[in-house]
Amino acid sequence: MAHMHGREELVGRITAEESRTERQAGLRFWFLTTKSREVAERVSELYQGEVLRGASGGDLHARKLHVEGIAVIVASVANVRYRLALENERGLIHACDGSRSLPPMPNEGKPCGCPDDPFTRNAAARAGAGPRPDSRLVFCLAAAPGLGELSFQSSAWPFYESLESVSHELERTGGPVQMELALREQRLATRSGLDVSRTYPEVHSVRRLSVTKAGLHLAA
Ligand SMILES: [Zn+2]
Repeated sequence: MAHMHGREELVGRITAEESRTERQAGLRFWFLTTKSREVAERVSELYQGEVLRGASGGDLHARKLHVEGIAVIVASVANVRYRLALENERGLIHACDGSRSLPPMPNEGKPCGCPDDPFTRNAAARAGAGPRPDSRLVFCLAAAPGLGELSFQSSAWPFYESLESVSHELERTGGPVQMELALREQRLATRSGLDVSRTYPEVHSVRRLSVTKAGLHLAA
């Protein structure tokens, strides 16, 4: 539990976005993929799962989850990745917290050169010239901790911003903490008068748990 788990140790992955050409688009549902039929079925029961036939296949089970919120338990700060990152075909070329470089960059701790102004920063990210959020949480479901650990990954700015207080709380308390992943809808009026909405994930309602890490695994 002391390190960020590799993908192979996780029983499933959840996202709230999909890749479109050159960008990530927010989904109006949670998207679960797992190699475990048991996990797919249990999570579906808990969170109104719908089978996604097109995305399922082989030993991969894919489900849409139609709930607004999912209560999760995060064991320690090592299970949170809170950073901005930029990759190219050679791999990771920038990782920072918005002002200073983070590991595994060789200039760790030094100013990273990102603009302070959020508007400029977001525009650079959209153009592929600057880093964008690369957030990841590894957690157990509060409703079924015995299932094992899943991950949630997001490149959404609102999620990144909501994760800031979570990572501070975890650093302060050491964990485990319970929190809720929630899908939010935001309505926007465009300059041409069109009413559009977008959905994004956030994390909130962080509270410390008194159970021990060992207790988490016993409580199925
Ligand atoms: Zn930077």
